Amino acid sequence: MEKTRALKILSDLIAIPSINDQEAQVADYLADLFAGYPAQIQRVRYAPGRDNLVVTIGDHGPLLGFSGHEDVVAVDSSKDWDYPPFTATMKDDKLYGRGASDMKSGLAAMVVAMLDLLDGKQPLDGRIRLLASVGEETGEYGAAQLTEAGYASELQGLVIGEPTDLHIRVTHKGVIDYRVESLGKSVHSSQPSLGKNAILPLVEFVHQAQITLSQDNQVDEILGSLTHVVSQIQGGAQINTVPAHAWLTGNIRTIPAYPNELVMQQLDDIVHHLNSQGAQLKITYSYPEPPLPNQGQTALAQLASQVLQEQFQLQGDLTAGMGATDASEYHHVPNLPIIIVGPADGTTDHQPNEFVSIDKYLLGCKFYEKFARAFWQKFTVNH
Ligand SMILES: [Zn+2]
Repeated sequence: MEKTRALKILSDLIAIPSINDQEAQVADYLADLFAGYPAQIQRVRYAPGRDNLVVTIGDHGPLLGFSGHEDVVAVDSSKDWDYPPFTATMKDDKLYGRGASDMKSGLAAMVVAMLDLLDGKQPLDGRIRLLASVGEETGEYGAAQLTEAGYASELQGLVIGEPTDLHIRVTHKGVIDYRVESLGKSVHSSQPSLGKNAILPLVEFVHQAQITLSQDNQVDEILGSLTHVVSQIQGGAQINTVPAHAWLTGNIRTIPAYPNELVMQQLDDIVHHLNSQGAQLKITYSYPEPPLPNQGQTALAQLASQVLQEQFQLQGDLTAGMGATDASEYHHVPNLPIIIVGPADGTTDHQPNEFVSIDKYLLGCKFYEKFARAFWQKFTVNH
């Protein structure tokens, strides 16, 4: 594909402000690109205006998945930007705009690779399925929906195009966001025995959670240990009143050896224990995301490394990430190897003046194409 068309596809995607909604416009745009080709196009609606898109090309052979999310994070203040966030601006080797890095460049490069494969003279010796998801930035529920509906079940390998500067990310931490509400009884602070202080059980919860979560000495050789941050706390109405209500939130980054289920069980146990002593605590979790166990030994990761080294003279090294991705959901498919490789370097994700290197983006388009061919060749069963 001409450079200008590959850049136009990315620019068009950036012009759609798909901030955790309006993903259907991204799906419409991508579906249009495949109109007229022998491609199977399926929309999977999450909510009105919010469509996941599944595009499958090829009619036989090994099935490789390409995954990218359609949503982007909000722009806090466009005053902090030197360029308009929802118009792609190219300057020197950089293309600026919201999602240029995270991750419309990865999504666009995968689509360009698929179109190039369809336009190429060589026959397709395998299949590719693009999984374009909604809501990655707020809980990976698009990927969860696609996984549950079986769209990833037959994949023999999956590449996620999140920014990695074309290094191969083979593992990442999981996430648990939690909130604890505490109820008490409000009275004048001169007679505290008549009321019930909502703050004190929260303090006790923090104390016990800190002790419990640091007792487990599991350390992942690449990811390190679990981390826990109590991130917000609030309660009480005024200085001379026993507080009737208080709450706090926490953020935990988990590792495969200390899984989400165990962490949540331990926090639940603390709440039950404190409630049995008279507290009125309630803990809730929003979209906990499991960690991605190390994929470094899979044939998929090894092949990606080989292609990056031999065909692109890049390092092809295996790396780790701290943030969760759609891999947390797709990993629920048994025996599905997953790697994360994307063209952007990720240094400006979720920040003003987000950009991708134009050279790297175009290299990413080529990488996905070459990698698909190498995958088909390697995973074709010879009869
Ligand atoms: Zn992302």
